[in-house]
Amino acid sequence: MDGHDFAAVAVGQGAGAVLASCPLPHITAPVFVVPDTVKALGCLAAQWRNHTRARVVGVTGTAGKTTVKEALAQILSLAGKTARTAMNHNNQIGMPRALLNTDGDEDFWVMEAGISQEGDMDDLGQVLRPDLALVLNAGAGHTEGLGEKGVAWHKARLLSYLAKGGKGLVCADYPDLAREAKATGADVRFFSVTGREVDFRAVYLGAATPPAGADASAAESYGKFQLWLEGTTLDVIAPFRGEYGAENVVAVAAAAHMLGVDASTIAQGLAAAHMPAQRFNQVQSGFWLIIDDTYNANPLSMRRMLEAAAEQAGPRPFVAVLGAMLELGAQAAAEHEALGQRLAKLNPAAIVWKGPHAEDVRAGLTKAGYTGPWQAVDDAEDFKKAWHALQENGLEAKARANGGVVLFKGSRSNKLETLMTALTDRH
Ligand code: ATP
Ligand code: MG
Repeated sequence: MDGHDFAAVAVGQGAGAVLASCPLPHITAPVFVVPDTVKALGCLAAQWRNHTRARVVGVTGTAGKTTVKEALAQILSLAGKTARTAMNHNNQIGMPRALLNTDGDEDFWVMEAGISQEGDMDDLGQVLRPDLALVLNAGAGHTEGLGEKGVAWHKARLLSYLAKGGKGLVCADYPDLAREAKATGADVRFFSVTGREVDFRAVYLGAATPPAGADASAAESYGKFQLWLEGTTLDVIAPFRGEYGAENVVAVAAAAHMLGVDASTIAQGLAAAHMPAQRFNQVQSGFWLIIDDTYNANPLSMRRMLEAAAEQAGPRPFVAVLGAMLELGAQAAAEHEALGQRLAKLNPAAIVWKGPHAEDVRAGLTKAGYTGPWQAVDDAEDFKKAWHALQENGLEAKARANGGVVLFKGSRSNKLETLMTALTDRH
């Protein structure tokens, strides 16, 4: 598909001018011909960014960018007018568009920066010039496209594009990332969820009762956290659990704190945060609590969300319905075997798998001694049959007394939501 073909329609619907990479003689509006329309869009956004008085926050990392961007924007909205990237629009088109869609008189802009190829962060950094660059984490993700320098180097690159007087905020728990962040020479504060003696810290204290008015889809997913924000101790609740929750909570709280938001507003905003769709949202279906984490997966988010779901299940049976993790290049087989080994430790009541690398996962499971049920499926119909068979073979009996928990998670192209719908429709 070629965007030039839609220029006439756009002008018909009110577009005042067209940026194009070739002349468009049939177009009545002014046409600006540029060598590269995506770069030109970035240049326009960069100019607009230079004229804002908003404090500009860039959020990057391997897993949790959208989740954290949303929660931070919700807190900052309590303190001032705030704009943010829409949904997951985090690339060289989506991010500049979000900048250009701002009114220009905001107090804060919170913008997600997502990368998958060499050079992506340079494109995004030049446009964004953040006052605060938050690097949430760095794990295996898009390793196929990011090449030899390593994921941490690419994520830390955002710190090289700070605006004058700008600061970095980086998780200290990833040694490569902490090293690369320091190597940029930027003014960086660090946070940790593993007890490192750094500027900001968080500890997960266990499940919490949701506040009145919380989303029904987050009813069981609230956690309690203790935070240290440069010497101030703060107890908060938020719709996150476990280690991933602590990381998100401390990152969001530290960023808000660095932007001058007071502790009680931070606590109020975290308690009221809404999770984006397909990120650990929960719905009850018959005996089963279904956790919809179908948006995407990489080794870091797979490990953490499995742990969070298993912790939430507690003594109840826990079923993992998983899809392959893609774009891992040469590391794919090893990462899937490692997933199998980790999964075995959680000892799910059953595992369902969709997509490639089933053999690698099984090798890991076998090595770690998992003997529970395993089903590989191709599509929703297949899944219905597999689920039915598992239920008949004892799964339903296990869940009858206290219910059970099913996590759906896999890379985007697995479309695990189609499997999940098959299950929710069944009841
Ligand atoms: P993408 O690269 O697709 O834009 P993202 O970095 O924006 O992803 P989210 O969409 O917020 O991340 O979440 C993706 C997955 O990671 C979801 O399964 C979510 O539950 C999980 N996740 C959220 N926060 C973290 C975290 N701190 N660590 C690991 N996984 C997380
Ligand atoms: Mg995202």
